[in-house]
Amino acid sequence: MNMISDWIQEPARDVRVAAQANVVVVGGGPAGLSAAIAAARNGAEVILLERYNHLGGLASGGMVLVLDDMWDNHLHEISVRGTCMTFIERMAARKLAYFPRADEWGDDPASYRKWGRWGTFDFHSQKNPHPVCFAAAFDPDAMKRVALEMVESLGIKLRLHSWFSRTLVEDGKVRGVICETKSGREAILADVVIDATGDLDVAASAGVPHVGGSYITTTVFRLGGVDTEAAERFEAEDPETFAAIDRQIKRILGGSWGYWWLKTPLPGVVWCNCPHMAGLDGLKPEDLTRAEMQGRSHIHAVVEFAREKLPGFENCYVIDVAPQTGVRQTRLLQGEYVMTKEDLAQRTRFSDSIARGRDYYMPYRVLLPKEIDNLLVAGRHYSATSQAQKMSREIPPCMAMGEAAGVAAALALNAGVTVRDVDVTALQKTLRAQGADPGDQSGRNADIPPLAAHIDAREAA
Ligand SMILES: Cc1cc2nc3c(=O)[nH]c(=O)nc-3n(C[C@H](O)[C@H](O)[C@H](O)COP(=O)(O)OP(=O)(O)OC[C@H]3O[C@@H](n4cnc5c(N)ncnc54)[C@H](O)[C@@H]3O)c2cc1C
Repeated sequence: MNMISDWIQEPARDVRVAAQANVVVVGGGPAGLSAAIAAARNGAEVILLERYNHLGGLASGGMVLVLDDMWDNHLHEISVRGTCMTFIERMAARKLAYFPRADEWGDDPASYRKWGRWGTFDFHSQKNPHPVCFAAAFDPDAMKRVALEMVESLGIKLRLHSWFSRTLVEDGKVRGVICETKSGREAILADVVIDATGDLDVAASAGVPHVGGSYITTTVFRLGGVDTEAAERFEAEDPETFAAIDRQIKRILGGSWGYWWLKTPLPGVVWCNCPHMAGLDGLKPEDLTRAEMQGRSHIHAVVEFAREKLPGFENCYVIDVAPQTGVRQTRLLQGEYVMTKEDLAQRTRFSDSIARGRDYYMPYRVLLPKEIDNLLVAGRHYSATSQAQKMSREIPPCMAMGEAAGVAAALALNAGVTVRDVDVTALQKTLRAQGADPGDQSGRNADIPPLAAHIDAREAA
């Protein structure tokens, strides 16, 4: 081993080729899952690599339990469909996802009273209370279960416990990746690689242009033994005392959104999208360790306080702190197009639009890294400024980006072209045909298949 100041030089070594496929997706979170599913549905042989023991990423292991940012309050329609909607339908069929019906969307205070504590409202509206909209509160294990079912039924080759460590690049083309596993290092070869790690691990290792970003970090947790009816009654009947206790809890937490607890499909179980911690780098083990230690100490202090002071929480206990640390933003691709906050605010339309979020549109170029071939990027590390990513990183748009990347990879392989040269019109058409909404058509989505009837009509919670 050669020592060079503070660095050591690893000796070169041979790595076993463990598998190969047309498309290798790295990261089994919302974006990666959708990418793998879409590529497989369009005929590609797909390997899905994930470092943990489950699929779903932050939407299951991170216990982020509301699918939002999928309601366009300008066009008054659901803006993210496709695979995301399939997940909602499948979880709802098991009573493990709940959402307001079409006749409950809007400003009706009674609807807000019913849905506010589910978090299914328009956070971006200036109105008070926020209007209820289409969004789905779901159970994390249901997300894992549906993900596994779909991966299995489509013949996707899943490799869990595989930690990506290096990208294999030859002559400006990505050839595959190397993973660390309990069996040692493994090479997985591919015609196209999709980076869905959320932290841009694959593209960064390939040396493509990117920038560092940061945002708050959260150790999300769930409490059981909560009498949610009693808690809501107390909030409605004695708002002043409630507000005083709520303020104290938020002080103990050190950082939280307006509602520090929300209902889940499991009776008596609430999820807490807090405490928020600033100034931590989601790529540094030291900071991630600090987040876990600091977060847990806030959580335990809050539980003790809530048991003593907050009606409905007298018998509450911690069920779990999310096994995946709540990192929202790290590296961001600076690809063929960089999304800005103005694009989001002005709802810029793009002729190569391939995905929608709340009321914004994403061009294919935000998935395309510069200077390299055979690589696509989908998810929260997509090509955007830090400000723009903070406004557009929710689970549904990440799923929509993943779906577009998966279809694009399959179309490129079928046409024998690089992903850079994919026929975007064919990509948009294929997305529409499979029920997704690429956002290339103006106004209402006349050419999108109607939602399954039960999405509009289902008796919800
Ligand atoms: C605390 C918090 C609250 C949020 N609240 C909401 C909300 O209420 N609603 C909403 O819609 N969105 C919310 N978000 C945003 C949303 O959860 C994420 O932006 C979204 O999950 C991103 O999806 P992704 O697939 O891009 O990345 P991730 O969900 O991060 O998935 C990435 C996947 O890649 C895997 N991976 C990473 N690195 C490697 C590697 N080296 N090797 C192998 N696998 C790897 C990870 O294990 C993970 O499975 C929240 C996020 C956080 C952190």
